[in-house]
Amino acid sequence: MARKGLLIVVSGPSGAGKGTLCQALLRRRPDLGFSVSVTTRPPRAGEVDGVHYFFWSEERFLEAVTRGYFLEWARVYGRHYGTPLSEVVPRLEDGVDVLLDLDIQGARQVKQRMPDAVSVFILPPSLEALEERMSRRGTESAEERRLRLEAALGFIAAAGDFDYVVVNDNLEEATRCLEAILVAEHCRSARQRELLRGFAAGRTRNLGREGGQDRTR
Ligand code: ADP
Ligand code: 5GP
Repeated sequence: MARKGLLIVVSGPSGAGKGTLCQALLRRRPDLGFSVSVTTRPPRAGEVDGVHYFFWSEERFLEAVTRGYFLEWARVYGRHYGTPLSEVVPRLEDGVDVLLDLDIQGARQVKQRMPDAVSVFILPPSLEALEERMSRRGTESAEERRLRLEAALGFIAAAGDFDYVVVNDNLEEATRCLEAILVAEHCRSARQRELLRGFAAGRTRNLGREGGQDRTR
């Protein structure tokens, strides 16, 4: 039986650098799939429909909820966000690892539905850095930034519920941490049952393909 892909959920406060880190990891690991979410917020300058998000109306989003279209969905900062099942399930079945960038509610829902998923909390080096990054990004109004900063304190209190915490101080270092988590998770004995059964049955070929070792190097 072919190995299934790994689901890795990145979460944390707005401005911690989740999006930047995910992009950096995807550049290092082109074999990794990124799940494009649906949102009902308007696109920011430079955001492309179907690349950064699928930008839908509230009506379309809520209708999709009733059809069971989403793996998880949540209302975040007054807008709806959701992960289409179609962005995740077929890839996992094909053995492709999938990266999700979700708010805390979404990360919790995914862990409940798919306990095999690996959750990573991205922590900024300080609250001052978080505030500074958010205002440098310049995508929210002062009032929106205030709401996001307030929410950040609550999120950070929940960091201990995650499998891993990565501090995004130096981007290069944080990206390497995220990659190391991916590699280590593949080596977990619980994810190597097929390989171990193969050994027990005297079948020892194609270990790289079926086993958990880093397949891209
Ligand atoms: P999030 O997706 O968590 O809301 P972003 O990825 O949009 O955060 O990052 C917020 C801002 O911080 C962006 O302007 C980004 O360029 C910057 N940033 C991300 N990581 C770092 C880092 N390690 N050091 C300095 N600035 C960073
Ligand atoms: P932004 O509007 O800044 O792109 O994202 C706001 C928040 O929504 C971020 O914390 C991001 O992780 C989260 N988010 C993005 N897509 C999804 C999704 O599909 N589901 C959930 N639950 N949160 C999402």
